[in-house]
Amino acid sequence: MEQVLPVGLCMKPSRRSKNKKTRQKLKKIVRFAIWEQRNGFCVRCGEPIEYRDVEIDHIIAIALANKPDEFRQLLIRHELRLDFNVHALYNLHPMHRRCNLSKAAKLISPAVLLDWLSLAEKNEKRIQKRIDKYEKEPLMLDIIVIAKQALTQKNFSKAEADGYQTVIRHIVVNHF
Ligand SMILES: [Zn+2]
Repeated sequence: MEQVLPVGLCMKPSRRSKNKKTRQKLKKIVRFAIWEQRNGFCVRCGEPIEYRDVEIDHIIAIALANKPDEFRQLLIRHELRLDFNVHALYNLHPMHRRCNLSKAAKLISPAVLLDWLSLAEKNEKRIQKRIDKYEKEPLMLDIIVIAKQALTQKNFSKAEADGYQTVIRHIVVNHF
């Protein structure tokens, strides 16, 4: 039988609401930079995510980090750094709300977990670079977020929406 990890944990309602609060504390800039850097795709199902629907998932759950013995065992077993910080960029990635909920309800295999971690680590520097740029120009970030949200709310044709997306991407690439 495949070994499983209590990564997502089965969330009781109380724990879930506590996590929701934690998620809300994640800075908008960080949320946006992670979503943008992954080209707006969900790491779990591979489908596009609208910005307003993105949740930033902690690959190793915060709840697990709150259990020091179990957490340390997991880090040792998978040869992860012992000063692993669950809030660091190398532990964050974008998911649909629905996919994050289904992750929370299931146990994640070590292979998937390690894949996710290695991808997040690979992207860490690029995301940090975006965050640094957005922090210098928060107004520009607001404009981009509003434009992206408007695009998802209006009934544009696909060609129109793709055109606008290209313009927005151009702004992001050339001005940040
Ligand atoms: Zn998804």
